[in-house]
Amino acid sequence: MLSAEECLKAIEIMGESFPDAHSSLTADTDFHFLLAVIMSAQTTDKAVNLLTPKLFETYKTPYELAKADITDVMSLIKTIGLYRNKAKYLVACAQKIVSDFAGIVPQTRKELMSLPGVGRKTADVVLAECFGIPALAVDTHVTRVSKRLRMVAQSADVLKIERTLMKKLPESVWIDAHFRMIYWGRYQCTARSPKCETCPLLGICAEGKQRVKTN
Ligand code: SF4
Repeated sequence: MLSAEECLKAIEIMGESFPDAHSSLTADTDFHFLLAVIMSAQTTDKAVNLLTPKLFETYKTPYELAKADITDVMSLIKTIGLYRNKAKYLVACAQKIVSDFAGIVPQTRKELMSLPGVGRKTADVVLAECFGIPALAVDTHVTRVSKRLRMVAQSADVLKIERTLMKKLPESVWIDAHFRMIYWGRYQCTARSPKCETCPLLGICAEGKQRVKTN
């Protein structure tokens, strides 16, 4: 298992390859960013970015989306998976923001998670990206990369991964660590064919060494 120092070093090395790692979802307001993150579940950021300009133009505020006809929302987002459920979540989320939060996206994890369609990962991404509040959302890339590097136990679930990384890494790097590990998982340590031979982390990566040896 990597020590706290080695975990931090790994995040720094990832930062050398991806100094500008950040969310690739585009949005002009906190509310629109929240909608984009909800829609990005089980689909690509690129697919979401293709439909959001029209959606955001149509529904500029939670007040407008709260009054929307769900079938209209469905037709605007039908190019992404699970669009029927997502359309329902978007409208219900806007309604709750209007009714419980005076039309303003809340800034605590607990309040964010009270919104329809918002789980822990979505809440953490919004906290970090919109409000600069340290959080370390764990998605499929963070899970794979942290396990391959032995930053966390192989048996760790999402919550355990989040807690372990937050314990091992200083709070000041949580947000960067989240985005760097996503980029690392997308472009270096990919699910099917990680580029171990050329990986700058090979020296501290047990899985990488194993893969290189058996290839
Ligand atoms: Fe991923 Fe391989 Fe790099 Fe380890 S050495 S982090 S398994 S790409």
